[in-house]
Amino acid sequence: MLLPRPLLVLDLDETPWHGELGEATQVTFALRPHLGFFLQAVAQAYDLAVWTAAGNDWLQAGLQAIKHETGVDLAAQAVFLWDRGRCTWRRDEAGALHFRKPARKFRARWLRARYPRERILAVDDLAANYACGYGHLVRVTPWTGAPDDTERLDLARYLLQIAPVPDLRALEKRGWRARL
Ligand SMILES: [Mg+2]
Repeated sequence: MLLPRPLLVLDLDETPWHGELGEATQVTFALRPHLGFFLQAVAQAYDLAVWTAAGNDWLQAGLQAIKHETGVDLAAQAVFLWDRGRCTWRRDEAGALHFRKPARKFRARWLRARYPRERILAVDDLAANYACGYGHLVRVTPWTGAPDDTERLDLARYLLQIAPVPDLRALEKRGWRARL
C-alpha cells in the first residue's frame, strides 16, 4: 500500500526565525540561515503546516518575511496555520505562563483522514511544547541570530532520510544528528 504523505508541523519562534519587537509596533524578523533551502527541500517529501504559541499578527508578519526573503509562500502552502489560540497553557509556581501544543489536536477527523498520526512530525525547540506527544517531536536547537548556523541543512537531510519510515511516531528521533 502506498504510504500517506507525511505532514511536517513547524514551530516558528527561535526555530526558523527570531523576531524582535522594535519601536512602537515594528517587528523585525531575522531568518535562520539556509531557511529557503530547508523549506524547499523538505516540501519534496512532506506537506507543511505551522503551529506557533505566538499570536496571529506575529505569525502572519513572520510568514510575510519568509515569503519576501525566500520566495516560499508558507501561508498559501500550509495545511493549517495554528497560533496561540490552538495551544493550552498553564502557570508555573512562579506565575509564568507556559504554552503546550496538545497533540490530541492531530486527531481531528479532517486531519486524521489525510495524515494518520504516525505520519505527523513536529519540529520544535521546546520539548515541553509536546509534553503530550513526544512521539511527534524532532527537537532542534533554538536560534537567536547566529550567522553561521547550519542546522537547517542537517535537519533537511535528516527529515528526507526518515520520510519513508511508515511509523514516524515510533521512530527514535532523539539524538538525530548522530544518525546522519
Ligand atoms: Mg520555538
